[in-house]
Amino acid sequence: MARETKKPATPKAGYGPATEVIEAGRDPKAQGGMVNPPVYHASTVIFETLEELERKTASPFDGVYYGRFGTPTTFAFEDAVARLEGGYRSIACASGLAAIGASLMAFLDAGDHLLMVDSAYSPTRKYCEIVLKGFGVETTYYDPLAGAEIKHLFRPETKVVFAESPGSLTFEVQDVPAIATAAHDTGAVMILDNSWATPLYFQPFAHGVDISIQAATKYLVGHSDVMMGAITTTEEHFRAVRVMAATLGAVPGPDDCYLALRGMRTLDVRLERHQQTALELAKWCARRDEVAAILHPAFADCPGHEFWQRDFKGSSGLFSVILDRHYPKQALAAMLDHMTLFKMGYSWGGFESLILPADPTTFRTASAWQAQGTLIRLHAGLEDLADLICDLEAGLARLTGK
Ligand SMILES: *Cc1c(COP(=O)(O)O)cnc(C)c1O
Repeated sequence: MARETKKPATPKAGYGPATEVIEAGRDPKAQGGMVNPPVYHASTVIFETLEELERKTASPFDGVYYGRFGTPTTFAFEDAVARLEGGYRSIACASGLAAIGASLMAFLDAGDHLLMVDSAYSPTRKYCEIVLKGFGVETTYYDPLAGAEIKHLFRPETKVVFAESPGSLTFEVQDVPAIATAAHDTGAVMILDNSWATPLYFQPFAHGVDISIQAATKYLVGHSDVMMGAITTTEEHFRAVRVMAATLGAVPGPDDCYLALRGMRTLDVRLERHQQTALELAKWCARRDEVAAILHPAFADCPGHEFWQRDFKGSSGLFSVILDRHYPKQALAAMLDHMTLFKMGYSWGGFESLILPADPTTFRTASAWQAQGTLIRLHAGLEDLADLICDLEAGLARLTGK
């Protein structure tokens, strides 16, 4: 399994996504017939000769070299992600946020400018405010619906445009190809957080993206038990990101790479079920008096729905609802403290359903958040739809005291 050449993870033409998630990142013949790749634990890698030491030191990203640069288990995960995303190569990171940080750091220096989408995952914003600002990088937040008009926000020193489509709390879908064109017109790099759609439902490199991020913690792992991220790049940008990620040092352990790869084998069937259940739940919510709006990219009134329709192959299990008013904490607690199947907790992408109240007004700056009701984010897990509806129905009754 050790990657000894610079051969990129070229997708085999013609396979559908359900086959791809089975075939990618494993080679039973090279694994003694074993179906899954072995878990290699390593820091030190022994070189047989001085010639080998010098050769591998000169080319640390091609084959085993030192544990921080990955083991064959890491490479198996990276090859699978690259193949699914349709990029040149992938880089495994210790978390989704580590993947975001390494990607930004690879292209930004003191005095540079970053365009960050206003609907970004809020720890991504904190990365800009806490890390990048301290290093002299200025961030401008842009309206997720800016599209081609984003060109007016570019400055000579703008090096990166970062998108997250849809936003993982408020679900605006971005015109990624138009934003990528604007970025490329000025020589900036286009980074996309593709965690919501996964490569199965959005192919980043076919839409102009240079760098695609997966919070693998979510759907790729799929079982809420591993923190991991992945960065996939074009050939042009691979080296810059690879060097930065290895230098920052936030790498995943081999057991986590193994679990992520194992999770990916069922990604296609899991996503299909997440999608169906979320659509049914959202339709059910839309009929309720307590719900004023549904924020789900597949719904016609979702901001940017036309881009979802044009660019995506499906929708995953995460969406939000806006309630008919701002409910006081006591009412929300009556609902949320007693849910049985919808568990309250951060993250998403696992097998279980999750529920979370959130207030976008606390962090948005470029595009005012004017919803007149409490926002509740739901993650549709893999449970039976009827059971989830019962849980929600009882919860809404507790919310309104009816
Ligand atoms: C969770 C999440 C991340 C960060 O992933 P971690 O593995 O938790 O660091 C990044 N982007 C989005 C959209 C997320 O939901």
